Amino acid sequence: MTMGELASRAGVTASLISKVELGQRDMSEETAKSVAASLDYPADVFTWKEPVYGFGSSSFYHRKQQSLPQKKLRQIQAFVNFQRIRTKRLSAALDLDFSFTIPSLSVDDYGSPEEIARAVRAAWRVPIGPIQNLTEWIEAAGGFVVAQEFDTAKINAISVWPPGEHPFFVINTLLPACNLRFSLAHELGHLVMHDVPEPGQEQEADRFAAEFLMPAVEIKPQLRDMNLRLAARLKPVWRTSMGALIRRARDLELITDRQHTSLRVQLSQNGWTKQEPVSIPHEAPNLIPEIVRVHHVEHGYSASDLADMVGLHTPEWLETYEPRGLRAV
Ligand SMILES: [Zn+2]
Repeated sequence: MTMGELASRAGVTASLISKVELGQRDMSEETAKSVAASLDYPADVFTWKEPVYGFGSSSFYHRKQQSLPQKKLRQIQAFVNFQRIRTKRLSAALDLDFSFTIPSLSVDDYGSPEEIARAVRAAWRVPIGPIQNLTEWIEAAGGFVVAQEFDTAKINAISVWPPGEHPFFVINTLLPACNLRFSLAHELGHLVMHDVPEPGQEQEADRFAAEFLMPAVEIKPQLRDMNLRLAARLKPVWRTSMGALIRRARDLELITDRQHTSLRVQLSQNGWTKQEPVSIPHEAPNLIPEIVRVHHVEHGYSASDLADMVGLHTPEWLETYEPRGLRAV
């Protein structure tokens, strides 16, 4: 909603909304109620004191394919912050116990992003071979993952890890599962390796993701004589895109740059750079649904109690957190 739309719905001036947003003026209780009603949110949401994090701040990374318009970025930023704060409120009362954590490791200490990827796999005791469900591993390490279909394919995944909070990831389910797994691993790489934005971090996060999902020692023998048929056969095994497998073969020096270019051209000629032939099912996050279940079953909260807790009206709570009649109570 633009400022003008909101102002006319709420029966106030756009200048008032603007000044309130800038913190230059307060709203009367009556105006606040009318603005909240126009936005279809409970009024107390507007008194929340939780910090909001933006793109480009040190604890907020995003993986995007192309530049997005400012308005879209603002919408996504608002979505991520709201989801993060709601998740924080939902989990605050619970004594959550995780098998391990997402560590902070520096490339200076470890020598390379690949070494760090191996260290995280070792710390989590990930078995040799492909990672079947990356979302499950991240959740077991205390990371929250929200799967959301955005109305743009230009952003893959976003991660944010504010001080004192759980690592928080949002993935855009408009994109194929194999791309999202790589993006999620890339975001994990940022959270493990990077505090302050610096040049070169995108490549480091990609290198982390490639080694984390396709460890060189394990995958190398399988990538010899790379061609499109082999890439299509390995895709459901490693659950990474044919493009990523072909790039891996080049990075591990199993094919030359020229062979790599030629394979990319073949992918493109088949229309497979846009949509690859073999598809992998999306990974469904479980941690937040499990928290909702515990609140219902063990604490006896109703949907309307939980809606209040996270600053939603009940219909939006049900649509967002308990779709398809998954209600426990
Ligand atoms: Zn990145």
